[in-house]
Amino acid sequence: MYNMNSTIISLSTDGETQFIDITGKVEDIVSKSGTKEGTAVIYTKHTTTALFINEGERGLLKDYERLLQFLPKEAGYEHDRIDSNAHAHLSSIMLGSSVTIPVLKGSLQLGTWQRIFLAELDGPRQRRVIVQVIGE
Ligand code: ZN
Repeated sequence: MYNMNSTIISLSTDGETQFIDITGKVEDIVSKSGTKEGTAVIYTKHTTTALFINEGERGLLKDYERLLQFLPKEAGYEHDRIDSNAHAHLSSIMLGSSVTIPVLKGSLQLGTWQRIFLAELDGPRQRRVIVQVIGE
């Protein structure tokens, strides 16, 4: 028999583009769920945020912004006629809306340098991330 536990992380972002390390919050949720073996799904319900796993080194945080610059900010996007944030939507698609991490022996199986980031791509705004822990 497995258990399922869903928790919402609420955050207010304070930049137009911002990378927020939510690893500690997710680890707390996994720990409180009491799950020993299973899976944690971390999911953002927004179309202008993303989730990814990578290193939290200070220089890399700047480089993540440079990665998003490979997509031109203004390129006559159709969506910009009504909302002027097509770049944020397209960046969200490139990075993805969820990450899935195995839980073993009660802990999230992240590598030494791996951190979980919420990418704010059209802030500042109030954001919600769902963490669902499934297992036993
Ligand atoms: Zn939009």
